[in-house]
Amino acid sequence: MKTPPPQDVAPATECVVVINCGSSSLKVAVLAARDGRMLLKALAERLGTPDATVAWESGGERGGIPLPGGGHREALQAVADRMENLRPLAVGHRVVHGGEEFSGSVLIDDKVLDAVRRCVPLAPLHNPANLAGIQTARELFPALPQVAVFDTAFHQTLPRAAYLYAVPYDFYADLKVRRYGFHGTSHHYVSLEAARLLGRDPGATSLVTMHLGNGCSACAVRDGRSVDCTMGMTPVEGLVMGTRSGDVDPGLHQYIHDRTGRSLDEITSLLNSQSGLLGLSGLSNDMRTLAEAAASGHGRAALAIEVFCYRLAKAVCGLTAALDRLDALVFTGGIGENSAPVRARAAAHWRVLGVRLDEAANAAHGANTGGVISAPDSRVACLIVPTNEELMIARETLRLVS
Ligand code: AMP
Repeated sequence: MKTPPPQDVAPATECVVVINCGSSSLKVAVLAARDGRMLLKALAERLGTPDATVAWESGGERGGIPLPGGGHREALQAVADRMENLRPLAVGHRVVHGGEEFSGSVLIDDKVLDAVRRCVPLAPLHNPANLAGIQTARELFPALPQVAVFDTAFHQTLPRAAYLYAVPYDFYADLKVRRYGFHGTSHHYVSLEAARLLGRDPGATSLVTMHLGNGCSACAVRDGRSVDCTMGMTPVEGLVMGTRSGDVDPGLHQYIHDRTGRSLDEITSLLNSQSGLLGLSGLSNDMRTLAEAAASGHGRAALAIEVFCYRLAKAVCGLTAALDRLDALVFTGGIGENSAPVRARAAAHWRVLGVRLDEAANAAHGANTGGVISAPDSRVACLIVPTNEELMIARETLRLVS
């Protein structure tokens, strides 16, 4: 009897697992180590409740299962079960707050975990969840190196004039009260991509990047380093966002308290969850919904968009104080990449900078112009660069483990 010829077994694809762990959610992205291709994406929600679920997408196919009562471990196990033909090389974690402890990504060891714990008071909701994600991944993939990529690290190059608040200095020295900035991974990624699009060395490029999603921030990037940004000690500072107010007069807290009796916690929640586009419009935090409503005559939706665009434009002009020249303004995030009217409206406030958009290129989101949406005679290039935080985390992870 003849033995069958050996079957060709495709070698497992080497990959990096990227984890973004929230208190009751877990996002996982598995990217090919060779070219950064997305191989598997998963989202687990409502973890720790009877309604917990995990859903995934891989190779154009979607699936999902209920995980009643399941936590981070069960969710990550369910994702690992879908990785039959993949060979993970390392795990990269998004960690929200690295305080002044981390100015770059790091290979995780016990000392790093202690330092992330020391940053918990700065991000009491996020860092404990990120630590839970690291713990879970260490248990499930004990042989793999793990890397932490911090949202704040890119902004650790801010000069003191940009990061200090003008409050008594002891608050900085004793309590670490200062501006940290967030969305660093996104600003870093799009600034590198923008330099590539401009055909310039990132180390000799001067930009303002705008991450406009549900959370929004802008960043001045000089020669590849963040030199100022709009978010501060917490992500509520700066631009108008989906539900966050952005900058307000610090005197507001006292006034609202005196007039309404609301507590500090309630006012904090008001400024984080009920303000921004949602608060102004009274309708939604979602720019698409607001754009449609404004087009059909909803006055407060139009007002929310107007304030959003003006405050963005004004903040960008402020950030140029940190630069010697301005090579490009870079839009990213759900709104930045997709809303031509928001970009046009903000750009109308930048005439003093010599910015002129190309209407057709802006309307097409730069699709036929390699992301460029400025007119040829614009003094400053305007670009759209889709952000890809997972890819940036995967790259950082591979850089550190190789
Ligand atoms: P993100 O947090 O990056 O996913 O961005 C979410 C925001 O992007 C929401 O306000 C969405 O309404 C907005 N967005 C997504 N697509 C569009 C679009 N086509 N036009 C306007 N806003 C959009």
